[in-house]
Amino acid sequence: MDNLPEYKLRQIKYGKDVPHKPDEKFMYMALEEAKKAFEIGESPVGAVIVRRGEVISAAYNTRETERNALHHAEIKAIDSACKKLNGWRLWECELYVTLEPCIMCSGAIMQARIPNLYFGAFDEKGGCIKSCIDINLVKGLNHKIKYTGGILEGECSKLLKEFFQRQRSLSNGGGLLRQD
Ligand SMILES: [Zn+2]
Repeated sequence: MDNLPEYKLRQIKYGKDVPHKPDEKFMYMALEEAKKAFEIGESPVGAVIVRRGEVISAAYNTRETERNALHHAEIKAIDSACKKLNGWRLWECELYVTLEPCIMCSGAIMQARIPNLYFGAFDEKGGCIKSCIDINLVKGLNHKIKYTGGILEGECSKLLKEFFQRQRSLSNGGGLLRQD
């Protein structure tokens, strides 16, 4: 039994309907997290990690506030899920995030062995699941990320657009906020 791959063990434990279908309820929660980032002038990205229907962690981007390049929503959510579950393998978990993950977060999702990723808006300028890089086509990587993009895409994109419009009007008025 110990020699079986993880996905087989999951099937034995939880039945064949694993992976679950994406649940919009959790994307709405991720959107609530993204709004917290919006309120404090951060790029509005939020993430929620769920295990068997239970929210394990939730986080939002705080890169500017905490002056740390690593503090993307997904990294923070993974970090607290590992602490909470006391282990680095999150193979029973699903990650919901409002924006397609960047190269760093895609790597972290793979490293944490998260089997199911659900994201909202596609990111043509940095998304490394499908848009800029199709991570599952990268040669030599032996872990794949099963994902569904475009969940509540309209709501997720709208929040980002509102944010960047606000940033533009602030910078036109002499504000110093950046848009990358
Ligand atoms: Zn990221």
